[in-house]
Amino acid sequence: MTPREPAIRSLLLRRIPGAPSAFLAAGTSALLATAISWTAFGPRQLADAVMVYLLSIVLVSLRFGYGPSLLAAVLSVLCFDFFFIPPLYTFAVHDLSHVVTFGVMFLVALVISNLTQRVRAQAESAEQREQRTAALYALSGELAAAKRVEDISQIATRHLFDALGLHAMLLVPTSDRSKVRALPGQNSGLSNNEPEANVAQWVWDHERPAGLGSDAVSSSFKSYLPLLASRGRVAVLSIGSRDPARLQSPEIREYLAAFANQIASAIERTDLASEAEWAQLQMKTEQMRSSLLSSVSHDLRTPLAVVTGAASSLLEDTIDATTRRELTETILQEALRLNRLVRNLLDMTRLEAGAVRVNKEWQPLEEVVGSALNRMEDALAGRQVVTDLALDLPLVPLDAVLIQQLLVNLLENALKYTPQGSPIEIRAGVRAGGVEMVVADRGPGIPAGEEQRVFDKFYRVSGAQGGGVGLGLAICKGIVMAHGGQLFVSNRAGGGAEFHIYLPVDGEPPSPEAPDPVEEI
Ligand code: ADP
Repeated sequence: MTPREPAIRSLLLRRIPGAPSAFLAAGTSALLATAISWTAFGPRQLADAVMVYLLSIVLVSLRFGYGPSLLAAVLSVLCFDFFFIPPLYTFAVHDLSHVVTFGVMFLVALVISNLTQRVRAQAESAEQREQRTAALYALSGELAAAKRVEDISQIATRHLFDALGLHAMLLVPTSDRSKVRALPGQNSGLSNNEPEANVAQWVWDHERPAGLGSDAVSSSFKSYLPLLASRGRVAVLSIGSRDPARLQSPEIREYLAAFANQIASAIERTDLASEAEWAQLQMKTEQMRSSLLSSVSHDLRTPLAVVTGAASSLLEDTIDATTRRELTETILQEALRLNRLVRNLLDMTRLEAGAVRVNKEWQPLEEVVGSALNRMEDALAGRQVVTDLALDLPLVPLDAVLIQQLLVNLLENALKYTPQGSPIEIRAGVRAGGVEMVVADRGPGIPAGEEQRVFDKFYRVSGAQGGGVGLGLAICKGIVMAHGGQLFVSNRAGGGAEFHIYLPVDGEPPSPEAPDPVEEI
């Protein structure tokens, strides 16, 4: 492109003034050309005067278009005759060869006007194409970042409106892919307009455009395009316009087709991504199921074998009272262990399935700690339990049942993994934006490098005693996360593990209701 081209193009594309002023400017330009030619050349240099007139006509046609340039041509011929052709200052012509000059001048003016008109049209359509390519480019950029069909629909709708002033809507297939419907939360206007809904369905079924501007059902108010990607149909795009003629313009339809392709590919990409995610999830679930099965079958079988063995020994007549008591105690222990295992499994499944609803209420921490200790009273007998709860503890928004379960799990672990008689501590204090509880013991602590992994499902430190499937801490983590808090473990100076539970305190507890004013009697 030469440097002059943009200048000419911008002249061509500048807004053309309204008709009266354009014709006025055309007249003025003829008069101006006359004044310049007269001053510069006088009536003797006719060829030069003709050039000035032609130049003025070119400028008028560049700037104002066809009609004004015709007026400029007629006026130029008349002025040329009046001021330059003898006899001067009359429209009479004595020398007939001048008539030819007029004719040629008029013809050249016509040709120039025609040419500039065509160039103008080309420049305009090039400009439009450029704008639409830029819009398509912007669309593809935004679509590339979209992760859900809802986002794609919103981006496509906005771009179609900005670029073409069209009202678009995405109709997506139902789960069995037999029908199309608007995305939830969008008003397609189709639910109460059966004929239009039928057109959209027809487009989905036949994978062909229909409605306004197409061969099928052209009586419809809107245009419907099937969105086809490499693996087949993915959705239907419905397009409406205040000016229905626009939807029939081949240029707009071409642009819409490009648009539809982009949207279809974006939807297919999100479909593929969610399929891959689903496959990944299936794989993980499969892995989890097999690891669950192997650990559960082991952990269920061991206590069951012990219970069966002990129970059959009890049936024998020869055993003395002491052994009988020991066997009964063994059965009780193993039954309790089984009970804990099943409870943990159930809790985890419910947490995973999102079935556990966090029922937050403003509660004093002291109460929750107190009820967890009550629940563990028998198990904790013979242990020194030190509680150190700060006096300035605020009320905390928490689900008392879940947090109690969390403390019970941590206390059970402290009992299981620490030497008999060693002390257990429960501390609580205020920490930035919330409260922190600590459950600490004087056991072996957590081996270095495994502080994170102990919270994984089915993870047990190798050689861990006490029986369990590695779910207790995973459940604790799930509970704390559901409260928007944090849970981590560290080892204490002097030995032992320290579990830190941070719970945020957002908002204000409800103020106690003002007492009813005492009625005066
Ligand atoms: P489980 O107790 O069923 O094995 P958990 O998820 O409760 O499962 O615990 C995971 C692992 O973390 C346990 O196997 C144990 O080795 C370790 N652990 C948990 N609590 C403590 C503790 N207080 N002291 C030392 N190790 C612990």
